[in-house]
Amino acid sequence: MKAFVMKAIGQVGFIEKPIPRPGPNDAIVKTTRALICTSDSHTVGGAIGQRENLTLGHEAVGVVHEVGSNVKLFKPGDRVLVGAITPDWGDPASQAGHSSQSGGPLGGWKFSNTKDGVFAEYFHVNEADANMARIPASVPDEVAVYCADMLSTGFMGAENGNIPIGGTVVIFAEGPVGLMATVGAKWCGAGLIIGVETVPRRQELARTYGADVIADFSKEDVVQRILNLTDGQGVDTAIEALGTDTTFQNAIKVTKAGGTISNIGYHGQGDYVHIPRVEWGVGMAAKTITTGLCPGGRLRMERLLRVLEMKRVDPTLMTTHTFPFEQMEKAFEIMDKKMDGVIKPLIVF
Ligand SMILES: [Zn+2]
Repeated sequence: MKAFVMKAIGQVGFIEKPIPRPGPNDAIVKTTRALICTSDSHTVGGAIGQRENLTLGHEAVGVVHEVGSNVKLFKPGDRVLVGAITPDWGDPASQAGHSSQSGGPLGGWKFSNTKDGVFAEYFHVNEADANMARIPASVPDEVAVYCADMLSTGFMGAENGNIPIGGTVVIFAEGPVGLMATVGAKWCGAGLIIGVETVPRRQELARTYGADVIADFSKEDVVQRILNLTDGQGVDTAIEALGTDTTFQNAIKVTKAGGTISNIGYHGQGDYVHIPRVEWGVGMAAKTITTGLCPGGRLRMERLLRVLEMKRVDPTLMTTHTFPFEQMEKAFEIMDKKMDGVIKPLIVF
């Protein structure tokens, strides 16, 4: 089968690989749709170290091709969503409620990290009964594929943010995850949602998805603007959805005492992320920093699919480009270099 791989740091391309085989608890899925993620760029850039001929990608849906002897809930031909994060559910971290950290920090993140990812004609799913979900008939593949990471991570940003009903929320960066965090913040009951974004197309989408105000860091001091919008108080919840030292610091600066900084950004560069000492109340302002990795698992995926089945949100507004799998190199370059106003490139198999 054809697989799109990271050959080495900074190098991608197609290679041939054998179709994987399932262990007793596993499944093999024939890929139908996938999305490229900024995390794929971070990986190729060396953020998690050297990898050799590792298949990229972690956001995909498909049709079950083969199942192991212990798999009870799925059979060949089923149309399925697979979470980007595929935990080991027997691990102590999973049993403690932190399944994305099973097997060690970020250990639930296997695709294109510790095993081959989904940018291939077929991919392997561990613990299939727990890590896949059947896609409702009314939800097309190109819609369902957004659940794998974008909806799950974005909504987690809001869920981890302890948003009080009527509270104030800022989302730092309205990329695809920030946009879904915006939707999540609205559903969690935010009274005022401020989106920080400079790209006009993303600003417009942020408004569509629920942002009341846009702060543009290219035109204004966003920290001051957010403080002005909240009568100098700061927000209840700041969602960091970019992953830079500056935005993380700004998130702390604009959060009121007792508030929450919910980090969902991938901090892919530098050795340290800094906390501004004074605005952190010299360590005593009761500002909570929460972190998390995209939740996976069948229950989570079924809930996300229900949201789509009931047409609560249309994530396909984020699909700016569509490419056949054969043109993966071009698609990857566009995402990697953020060319042509890209938000999410959809890959059709
Ligand atoms: Zn992703």
